[in-house]
Amino acid sequence: MVKIQIPEAAEKIMEQLNAHGFEAYAVGGCVRDSLLGREPEDWDITTSAKPEQVKEIFPRTVDTGIQHGTVTVLIDRMGYEVTTYRIDGEYEDGRHPREVEFTGNLLEDLKRRDFTINAMAYSSREGLVDAFDGRKDLQRGVVRCVGNAMDRFREDALRILRAIRFCAQLGFDMERETEQAISAIAPNLAKVSKERIQVELTKLLLSSHPERITDVYENGIGPFISDRFERAGKRLAAIGPVCFLPSKKHMRWAGFLRMEDYEAAAAILRDLKLDNETIEGVRTLVSLWKTEIPAHKPAIRKVMSGLSDELFDDLLCFQEAFCREEYRDQLKEVKQYSEEIKKAGDCIRLKDMAVTGRELIEAGRKPGPKLGALLNSLFEEVLKCPECNDREYLMELAKKL
Ligand code: ATP
Ligand code: MG
Repeated sequence: MVKIQIPEAAEKIMEQLNAHGFEAYAVGGCVRDSLLGREPEDWDITTSAKPEQVKEIFPRTVDTGIQHGTVTVLIDRMGYEVTTYRIDGEYEDGRHPREVEFTGNLLEDLKRRDFTINAMAYSSREGLVDAFDGRKDLQRGVVRCVGNAMDRFREDALRILRAIRFCAQLGFDMERETEQAISAIAPNLAKVSKERIQVELTKLLLSSHPERITDVYENGIGPFISDRFERAGKRLAAIGPVCFLPSKKHMRWAGFLRMEDYEAAAAILRDLKLDNETIEGVRTLVSLWKTEIPAHKPAIRKVMSGLSDELFDDLLCFQEAFCREEYRDQLKEVKQYSEEIKKAGDCIRLKDMAVTGRELIEAGRKPGPKLGALLNSLFEEVLKCPECNDREYLMELAKKL
């Protein structure tokens, strides 16, 4: 019998539900990942209890998606989603089915799930419930729809991108019928919300096979995400070693969009409702990665002054992945020098300069744009020569400028 190690708190929740006469199983991603020997991100529980009944049993709960049957049970500050067995009605373009119907039958609940590898349930009492050969597909390394692929993608076109995303995360292939249905139903993705699409694309890019983003294009899905997104795919002659980049959102998106100009890259990401911080990070990397930095400390300090420490390091790492061979030795030196600059504590930010605008005003300068220009000139001087970051020296210098 298959045995899965369930965290204590999740086990307790299931026991409590059982004690009240309800069925309860761990389900979906956590079962899949456990069988693969991967650490599950979270433990979802499916139960025959109705949401109101779940709330009666546990003292601390949150109504996360109660109209869809989900109650979050809080144990030691951790949340566990407990969802009532349900049959999904038609999906609308939003995140959830238009209407759901609760059921007392586990198999009905498993049937509504997207892929066989995601449609397994497990409890310590009953063992593994695997009605659609999910375990065999895990062993074969195959993503396959539960039931008829065309129907399942028609119900919710997001599943098309989820299929590609799971292939990328797990290094799996698509089963034939599932793959054929993808191109046929791809136009329906135009009706799916951009946020949902973005979540899947981001997970795909953060996975260990970000290069599988090309599957999106090969299956003719690009135009149904956006025209700009489609054009970006055409311009990207080869995806390149994106998998060598750290799994950070701005780095992976920038790796994929690096051939775009930075405005176009930002526009694609705004369309997809990515957060501003990521968009800014992508904009910086896409605009700077081709600019080779001289192995010369003043020039390095200048580049560093425009970026956070983290983003500067990300930029070097990005250049390392995609630069031309001839730049490689220079880049190593740049990296070495930048470490020295950090270690020495050289002033690389205006706010760390030994003289402030206020002090210049106290010394008789008028506030205004000229003062800003003066501060910048002093800062340029400090970037060239860190020893110059001395109050007296800079005040003297200011008199001459
Ligand atoms: P991960 O959390 O690692 O991204 P997961 O499998 O847990 O993967 P979720 O999006 O958290 O994925 O969904 C939990 C489960 O709900 C899935 O395993 C699947 O059984 C079901 N599911 C999620 N989205 C859909 C969908 N669009 N259609 C059908 N079933 C779905
Ligand atoms: Mg999950």
